[in-house]
Amino acid sequence: MRVMWAPWRMAYIKNARKPTACIFCSTARERRDEANLLLHRSAHGFVIMNLFPYNSGHLMVAPYAHVRSLESLSDDSALDLIRLTNLSLAVLRAEIRPEGFNVGINLGRVGGAGIEAHVHLHIVPRWNGDTNFMPLFSETRVIPEHLRATYRKLRAQFRKALDQERRRNGDPVMRSIRPARTGGTASRRPRRVRRRP
Ligand SMILES: [Zn+2]
Repeated sequence: MRVMWAPWRMAYIKNARKPTACIFCSTARERRDEANLLLHRSAHGFVIMNLFPYNSGHLMVAPYAHVRSLESLSDDSALDLIRLTNLSLAVLRAEIRPEGFNVGINLGRVGGAGIEAHVHLHIVPRWNGDTNFMPLFSETRVIPEHLRATYRKLRAQFRKALDQERRRNGDPVMRSIRPARTGGTASRRPRRVRRRP
């Protein structure tokens, strides 16, 4: 391993000595989203930045449910996981403009799962040529941008994306304040009802 400036490794080494609690469950329980780099919460899961990223913008999507594998998730949780993944992809595309992604789930220790007790999905943004300096399976990792700065930018994008989605789909509050119909054409005019004498 080459020696390089990697302060996040120190946190990793310190945490490795602590008793093993589930980091996903404790992060979800704690309400310290900025400190924990938690970007977004939904009804069934959340999106968090990886503290030990393989590339800039490396995110993880996890359900609240502490289960080892995808097939243990409820249908609602499974659907939510994919929706959160799609939202994350849109946010990353808008903010850091990757040329591609690796999206995947490691199941079990031999499958490469760092935390095998709580299923989670990795989203790693990719750029052409990034493997030249970013070997995916080595100890050497390069973070082009400070994590906290990336967090603030991405969180702003998440909020923007959610506002857009809310405007598009309409939540109950939005629906109630939006006019029922705009414009008005002949075809939309209410049909005259012929009354029987
Ligand atoms: Zn857990």
